[in-house]
Amino acid sequence: MKYSKRALEINESVTLEITAKAKEMKDKGADIITFGVGEPDFNTPENIIEAAIKAMKDGKTKYTNTSGIIELRKAICDKLLKDNSLSYNPNQIVVSTGAKQSLANILFTLLNDGDEVIISSPYWVTYPELIKLAGGVPIVCECNLFNDYKFTKSNLENCISKKTKAIIVNSPNNPTGSIYNVEELKIIAEIAKENDIFIISDEIYEKLIYEEKHESIASISKDSYDRTIIINGLSKSYSMTGWRIGYTASSEKIANLINNIQSHTTSNVNTISQYAGVEALTGNQESIYTMKNAFNERRDYMIDRLSKIKDISYIYPKGAFYVMVNIEKYIDNVKVKDSIEFAKELLEKEKVAVIPGEAFGLPKYIRLSYATSLERIEEGLNRINNYLNSMKL
Ligand code: PLP
Repeated sequence: MKYSKRALEINESVTLEITAKAKEMKDKGADIITFGVGEPDFNTPENIIEAAIKAMKDGKTKYTNTSGIIELRKAICDKLLKDNSLSYNPNQIVVSTGAKQSLANILFTLLNDGDEVIISSPYWVTYPELIKLAGGVPIVCECNLFNDYKFTKSNLENCISKKTKAIIVNSPNNPTGSIYNVEELKIIAEIAKENDIFIISDEIYEKLIYEEKHESIASISKDSYDRTIIINGLSKSYSMTGWRIGYTASSEKIANLINNIQSHTTSNVNTISQYAGVEALTGNQESIYTMKNAFNERRDYMIDRLSKIKDISYIYPKGAFYVMVNIEKYIDNVKVKDSIEFAKELLEKEKVAVIPGEAFGLPKYIRLSYATSLERIEEGLNRINNYLNSMKL
């Protein structure tokens, strides 16, 4: 009995072991500070919850069409026009079970075996695995601190080959919090045009920006609009991670292909969530700003504290809710040999859970999420400080 090559090639998440261990310790009563989570700690806003209850009571509990109810796809088109000055019609939108499924759909739509997809490092942990699952080859473009870990003309051109099919642009970025400006996006759009490749633009953290402004690469030119598939969703901006609503905006041709794939895998997104999604996009938007302000306050606090800790540095985050912290000077091959071991020890000794940079292709870093309360951040940083001090002894 042999399993598929594809399944066997998918790496187990580096984060899994630490997250599982943290949970086990918590279940046994330990006071664990979790800096690992990738979701807002706020509950979904009340008006959205009410809309879901109403949908159930109104009998909106059956299948819908695969790409989503028309009200939701229209609301997404209105959002894209209002926020991004992009004109789409509902036939260009496919609503999926989270942005993660949107990405999977796109990759299955675009890739043939051996096609290459370029991603920048550090990257969201799912990109390389999903590319492989779809038969593609992830090409990791080495980026560096001097360009905020973003694509530049030279590092991107170095990664292009005859097999390049697409490039994934993630702005704001998980895990660095970097944001692309218009000039940088123009360079990527130009390279994509010259080489005739698709652009997959993951904009899931769009609403969580504390400096600068979000620009979608699809708005750079008519050409970039045509070759870009936007991924976005409600998980992060409306604190709706569990509702599973993501979407793509693309050409009608691509939307139809995505629709076909989804029709044979999961069909429509949970109907109740879709009605809640309409309320999220069309109802009162106040909660987005309240959450964003809270994240901004936590970010400022976290980076202020981190900048006072000796012998560490961090990638300055402008968006999302993560900080990548460089712990290189504490990796000495004696006490800890890499950031995985560092994270395990930190959990064991100080009961703080962090994600090792290996998960994102950036060893010697750990990722801290500030999607947790200020009090917990303060306590967690005190503990990290204790741990670092103990390592110097
Ligand atoms: N894209 C990025 C960069 C993410 O960090 C995440 C979730 O962590 C997603 C997409 C997936 O979001 P969703 O919960 O909508 O599937």
